[in-house]
Amino acid sequence: MVEKCPVCRRGSLRLKRVREEMFGVDLGSHDAEVCSHCGEVFFTAESVDQIEARAREVGLWGLASKVKVAKSGNSLVVRIPSPLARYLKLRNGQEVLVAPDQKHRLVLDLA
Ligand SMILES: [Zn+2]
Repeated sequence: MVEKCPVCRRGSLRLKRVREEMFGVDLGSHDAEVCSHCGEVFFTAESVDQIEARAREVGLWGLASKVKVAKSGNSLVVRIPSPLARYLKLRNGQEVLVAPDQKHRLVLDLA
């Protein structure tokens, strides 16, 4: 029996190997069901476990986290959690470029 896509309800799902990446780092190819119509990817439960394990192995797991914006004088301060600072090799006193990306994203350029 061919399963219908739960997102578009038009395409059928086919098992394929799909490459996954996190923060630009390749986490390998894993089994996923892919919709023939909209292209939505549904990783199998086993693949989700493998992807998480690989992300932990390469130190990417948990690097994205919610932080609060605080006030400091007339400026606002965003704390960078230490695991993220270590991953980026970001040092105290280092100069970085801060810029908006559209209206909803903040880019911190370390180069
Ligand atoms: Zn679909």
